[in-house]
Amino acid sequence: MSVLRVALEVPLATLFDYLQPPPDALPAPAQPGDRVVVPFGRRERVGIVMECVLASSIPHERLKPIVRVLEDAPRLPPDWLELMRFLASYYQRPLGETVAGSLPSRLRSVKTLPRRKPRAPSAGEDTSRARFVSSNEPNPAQADAVKRIGAALGGFKPFLLHGVTGSGKTEVYLHLVARVLERGGQALVMVPEIGLTPQLEARFRHAFPRENIAILHSALQAGARTHAWLDAARGDAGIVLGTRLAALTPLPRLGLVVVDEEHDTSFKQQEGLRYSGRDAAVFRAKVAGCPVVLGSATPALETWHNCRAGRYERIDLPERAVPGAMLPRVRLVDLRTDPAAHGFAGASVAAIRGRLARGEQSLVFINRRGYSPVLACEACGWAAGCERCTANLVLHAVGKRLRCHHCGWEERIPRACPTCGNPDLRPVGRGTQRVQETLADLFPEARIARIDRDSARRRGELQQALEGIRRGEADLLVGTQLLAKGHDFPGLTLVCVLGADQSLFSTDYRAAERLFATLAQVAGRCGRRGQEGEVLVQTKFPQHPLFGALVRHDYSSFAEAQLADREGAGFPPFVHEAALRAEAKQLEVSMDFLREVAASVSPPGDVRIYDPVPHVITRRAGYERAQLLVQSRSRPALQSLLASWSERLFAGAPRNVRWHLDVDPIEFD
Ligand SMILES: [Zn+2]
Ligand SMILES: [Zn+2]
Repeated sequence: MSVLRVALEVPLATLFDYLQPPPDALPAPAQPGDRVVVPFGRRERVGIVMECVLASSIPHERLKPIVRVLEDAPRLPPDWLELMRFLASYYQRPLGETVAGSLPSRLRSVKTLPRRKPRAPSAGEDTSRARFVSSNEPNPAQADAVKRIGAALGGFKPFLLHGVTGSGKTEVYLHLVARVLERGGQALVMVPEIGLTPQLEARFRHAFPRENIAILHSALQAGARTHAWLDAARGDAGIVLGTRLAALTPLPRLGLVVVDEEHDTSFKQQEGLRYSGRDAAVFRAKVAGCPVVLGSATPALETWHNCRAGRYERIDLPERAVPGAMLPRVRLVDLRTDPAAHGFAGASVAAIRGRLARGEQSLVFINRRGYSPVLACEACGWAAGCERCTANLVLHAVGKRLRCHHCGWEERIPRACPTCGNPDLRPVGRGTQRVQETLADLFPEARIARIDRDSARRRGELQQALEGIRRGEADLLVGTQLLAKGHDFPGLTLVCVLGADQSLFSTDYRAAERLFATLAQVAGRCGRRGQEGEVLVQTKFPQHPLFGALVRHDYSSFAEAQLADREGAGFPPFVHEAALRAEAKQLEVSMDFLREVAASVSPPGDVRIYDPVPHVITRRAGYERAQLLVQSRSRPALQSLLASWSERLFAGAPRNVRWHLDVDPIEFD
């Protein structure tokens, strides 16, 4: 019991051995989970003791003792260390990097945190915890969900809460959290993007006025994030509400995990440790021995598949919670018989006009920001492209600039075509800004609000704009997906969807799943308060089965059809997948690197390694990118191949290539 194996934040896949100091040097010997200061090279660094072992492979005389144990934060519990080991090995990243990346930055410094005074209850303050203020009586479906999940408290069990938009999933979460608090537990509630959902935070604060609620997301200042993290880790916060990184917080009394909008792709981290916050949450619940509730109107097909296989229990909320509120009527506008002028079919214009006359709000949804996606010369076929990426520059009306949405490059609009000199360059296609312009021409009297990442760049701007819309300060809304997530607009009764056909025939097998989820979510914004809502989807393919399922609000048959397709084609969730990606200044360097790695290890029989291919957007920010895909029906076989790859690569990859492994990848651009 004299050697401490310590995780340090260095880009190596190893732990470092240190000695336990002599008994009189420390108040108590260091233990697994302790943050310790250790000598490393000429500096001191902070590390986490992962385990205590009897002997090291390094000669005893070359080992150094640790300097001290940091006691300003609680010792990291065994289940958290287990989570770190799981994430590092599953996603093939160094353990030290995984551990360090999961701690707030202030806990990675050798400086001790300032001591915080415990908050003394003021005289007369009611210190009893878990006072629950329920605003609504649950309807029968909600009550049944609470009962079934509530009965599982105290043991691991995954649930899918499949509720249509507006079915009141949050009410179910609140009742369950109240039960967990009563039992003295902590609840972890995860949302895709907390910056977009302060409504949820407000509901929790209103429902649990006396509870310490820790909010955790990446946009917090370092100090606030450290405080919230400590509140969670000490067990002082009964509720931890946050984005995917909240799944990495130590929670000593974890009694319930909720992942709301579990299908959302932002639960997957796209850099460094490319983990899925949802999958990490399920793992945590398993280790902690508590239920996990995955909530969605359009669950991920992986989750749906887990229900079919009996691994998850599915609970349906088939109706809207507000009495009298119906799901909106979805109508397909056939662009072959009602062709669009300036992006709008006649039926769409007429519907918007009707809503304006009645003083109701309409939303025009187009999932593309900017003025137009291409600026082109009709004389010679030139189109403005980014020099650093294989992508067209997007025309932005504000400031009359061309911008690359992949690398951030910006330039002025040229006066004339650089190839043939034609001064008449035309915007092709439309984005939110152009749609806003068209609406202003069609309805000069209407107040129009545009919501996308350009209109809401600073924090708070989006919030203000959304509040204004809720107060009825706009008649027409134009927006991207940013508008679709979780917002509740009482006056909205019409949604027009433009440009849906673009994702209909994508090469990405996940495109249909995402399109359905997006359309269902956008459609779900309207008619939430009892007035009848209507959704118009403009399309040239009204017979497409995806639209048929959307019109019937029938996620289940859509999911079944998709799963049948995927099983036939051999795609996830019927196989497990990983991508090895490389980028270099020349494409051949990336491709050669991938070929060499693929040939370096002979794969187990049930693993299939595909040939390397360039990315669709091959060049991004000056780097040429390629990837190869590995698939297997056997998770252990896949993991063992990835482990042998990453061992070689971390030990020594060529310096002219940047590489990473993405396990369970969801983005392939
Ligand atoms: Zn030209
Ligand atoms: Zn670019």
